[in-house]
Amino acid sequence: MAAKGSISVNTENIFPIIKKFLYSDHDIFLRELVANAVDATQKLQKLASMGEYDQEMSDVTIQVDVDKDNKTISITDRGIGMTEEEVEKYINQVAFSGATEFVEKFKDIDTSTIIGKFGLGFYSAFMVADNVEVITKSYKDAPAVKWTCDGSTEYEISESDKAERGTTIVLHVNEDSEEFVDEFRLRQILNRYSKYMPIPIQVGEDKRTEKEGEGDDAKDVEIVEPHIINKSEPIWAKDPKSLTDEDYLNFYKELYPMSEEPMFWIHLNVDFPFELTGILYFPKVKEDVTPHKDKIQLYSRQVFITDNVEEIMPEFLRLMHGVIDSPDIPLNVSRSYLQSDANVKKISSYVTRKVADKLNSLYKNDRENFEKKWESIGLFVKYGMMTDEKFYDKAKKFCLLESLDGKLYNFEEYKEHVKALQVDKNNKSVFLYASDQGTQDSYIQAAQKKGYDVLKMDTLIDSHFISNTEHKFEDITMKRIDSDTVNNLIETDEKNESVLTEEESNKLVDIFKRALGNDKLEPKVEAMTADELPVLITKPEFMRRMEEMAAMQGGMGAMFGGMGGGDTITINGNSEFVSRILKEEKEEEQDKLVKHAYDLAKLTQGNLKGADLTSFINRSLELI
Ligand code: ADP
Repeated sequence: MAAKGSISVNTENIFPIIKKFLYSDHDIFLRELVANAVDATQKLQKLASMGEYDQEMSDVTIQVDVDKDNKTISITDRGIGMTEEEVEKYINQVAFSGATEFVEKFKDIDTSTIIGKFGLGFYSAFMVADNVEVITKSYKDAPAVKWTCDGSTEYEISESDKAERGTTIVLHVNEDSEEFVDEFRLRQILNRYSKYMPIPIQVGEDKRTEKEGEGDDAKDVEIVEPHIINKSEPIWAKDPKSLTDEDYLNFYKELYPMSEEPMFWIHLNVDFPFELTGILYFPKVKEDVTPHKDKIQLYSRQVFITDNVEEIMPEFLRLMHGVIDSPDIPLNVSRSYLQSDANVKKISSYVTRKVADKLNSLYKNDRENFEKKWESIGLFVKYGMMTDEKFYDKAKKFCLLESLDGKLYNFEEYKEHVKALQVDKNNKSVFLYASDQGTQDSYIQAAQKKGYDVLKMDTLIDSHFISNTEHKFEDITMKRIDSDTVNNLIETDEKNESVLTEEESNKLVDIFKRALGNDKLEPKVEAMTADELPVLITKPEFMRRMEEMAAMQGGMGAMFGGMGGGDTITINGNSEFVSRILKEEKEEEQDKLVKHAYDLAKLTQGNLKGADLTSFINRSLELI
């Protein structure tokens, strides 16, 4: 005897609205229905484990079948099933109380992926089907029932002769969605969303032939095997103690078949204050520090939600690869919603903390290995320190600085290392660094001759990291090696004796202005050591940083560009070459010497090019 009823919902006809809202993501109907099937199966397993269900569980594989002739897709599980009352309660009423709320709330905005949150999971079937049947038999001793609904608010419920426990959902696929009546398409969708679900899911069969028998008697036999989507229980759900390095590396390969082996990983596992499991891998990072937006996959109870974690995970964490699984991440909601979700925020700060702890323990327990990996870890750590205060607090203890001789120091160690010679009159440690050893070699050598240590800061991120660091460590100044003459790099009150009188110095300045044909030049005369270059070109640290910043910001560049280089020309008053200039009587010869000294300075920076370089070479030949 069939009964008819009306679905309890205020809105006259809700389905067109659902279809409209969910338009962009039609394929998730399958994820929703399979997730329900998995839930129903797990509920039964739970009851069995508590001794409340004592019958044979038998095979609980979920079947997804396609019937091309009748244009149907059916999803069959061997879970708890539903009694008639339960169908009334769960399918007719509960789901729709959520639906009404949903429609009210999101009438005017485009939320293409809001479903499960509002208990609309089952009803997503109507995105692709005109008519849906639910045929179900409860694990309790109750008659099987069949519920049908054609997408209006009317439904029909009748008895069914289904003998096996569990539920079959039959979708009579609508004309627009016929693409889904295809095994390959369904496998593809499930591979994306359901590969790691805990109950086996079968979509059709695979056939292959194998040889049987020996020699002439050998014949081809056809082997038919079920095509199971989910191959293994995901390793993130397992106990870390039961896993080997190989397990982790294999899983990484499975996720990113094209990637180089990761350096190390963190297995996340918490159940308080929220539930979260996952594995994050540290890939080898070189110059490319663009955070990926699709290398971390989010799951909720092993159901794939998204791999677009932009705005969900802090930027620097997105340099990592892997999976995060938490039932506390709301399913199916739009990203802007996720971003402001309190749980998501908690999760990302938890992950940040775990990552910092992992790095810290690696640093503490195996510094040698940590140093070996520093090239890759360093980029990550610096990035994190610059963008995340909490991470910074932890990382400042294990962030390493690399000296040009290859030794690595943490900040405190390095301060200690340079304290004899590199503390200025304000009691600040002066950290000298080179950003390009090729063009800064003469400055580096001059500094090393004085006993200074020089740091290597040549990655893309370093110039930002430097200003950021100074900001935070009040007792450190960072100076690029070519930002001043070697005597002035560390500001002290001491002065070198000059062999020149003030009159001679003034005369030198005038000669330089004339020879270089620029009246606006303000060369400084300084008492350096006799073996240093006669002329040095430097750019003050602040000036260069300003330019770098401007270049980054595009438009502003023009403004600072117009400020005219900001180079400082320093004449070494104690250089013999300079005394030669002073002694020279012919103006023409004097000019030649000045130009030569100036070109030499440019040459040491790799800045002498084109016609200037040619005339330098010619002049050299003449002077020799
Ligand atoms: P949600 O899964 O978010 O609760 P759904 O609309 O997907 O919302 O499902 C509503 C309810 O219907 C479920 O909570 C469950 O009780 C019941 N249900 C759905 N599918 C099945 C199934 N395959 N087997 C047993 N019960 C089911």
